[in-house]
Amino acid sequence: MIETASGTGTRLADRTAVITGGASGIGRASALRFASEGAEVVVWDLDPVGIEAVVTEIRQAGGRAHGVAVDISDASAVAAAAAETTAVAGEVTVLMNNAGVLDDYAPLLDTDEALWDRIIGVNLKGMFLVTRAVLPSMLAAGGGSIVNTASVAAFIAGGGGTAYTSSKHGVVGFTRQMSFDYAHQNVRVNAIAPGAVETGMSKDILYNDDLPVVEALRSAPAGRHAQPEELANVALFLVSDEASFVHGAVYVADGGWTIR
Ligand code: NAD
Repeated sequence: MIETASGTGTRLADRTAVITGGASGIGRASALRFASEGAEVVVWDLDPVGIEAVVTEIRQAGGRAHGVAVDISDASAVAAAAAETTAVAGEVTVLMNNAGVLDDYAPLLDTDEALWDRIIGVNLKGMFLVTRAVLPSMLAAGGGSIVNTASVAAFIAGGGGTAYTSSKHGVVGFTRQMSFDYAHQNVRVNAIAPGAVETGMSKDILYNDDLPVVEALRSAPAGRHAQPEELANVALFLVSDEASFVHGAVYVADGGWTIR
């Protein structure tokens, strides 16, 4: 059994888990954590080198993992990825919609149509395309659990620019509507809303004094940024049976940023 700093177990034994953006950051940590609880993990990402690294790490530790290189904003590529996934790993019973891109804190007048389309295309439309492609497999398996990665930018301004904040507000709406529509078919849908997490996405931002968000980050009560593994543990709880009555929830893990 693969080991992580957070331990090992059987909470996801007999589950097949797709994790988008699983080659880096929160997705990578979640791939390792889910595998440590017995899941057969399928990493979906744009980055083939990153996919190979995490899949190799899980396999070498005795876990089960596969990788699929896919752009989640491309509907036909997503459909092909879903077919490949069920062919190699069976029906999907856990989905973590986590891949995302940031917009460098662009306000509206710095947001051209191409930037808007890219951010919404990955963060929101990509989530729609992936879920629509994977859900039939989950229903065929008799149900499952989905966790979507939102952000504190789903609730407050200043966690990203216009496109990013809009996309993350959309993720919460998507989560609630999906939960409402599919709970009776044994599908639970929830979201995590991270604050500042040290990952590839955030490394150029968290210590950039020119960005207004940095002051807010510094004054978060916890007084530090999160490590990706801390978000992976929240995602694990939500997809596991321990959260069996949790539907449509958005679980904030932000070091207290939004309670100030
Ligand atoms: P990251 O950059 O480390 O990882 C994101 C992964 O998504 C990368 O591996 C990237 O290749 C992949 N990806 C990007 N576009 C893709 C596409 N079109 N198709 C497939 N894969 C794609 O970033 P992270 O910080 O781990 O971000 C994960 C999620 O967490 C994102 O949704 C992000 O918005 C959210 N989030 C991050 C923070 C933070 O502080 N890091 C805070 C709140 C929310």
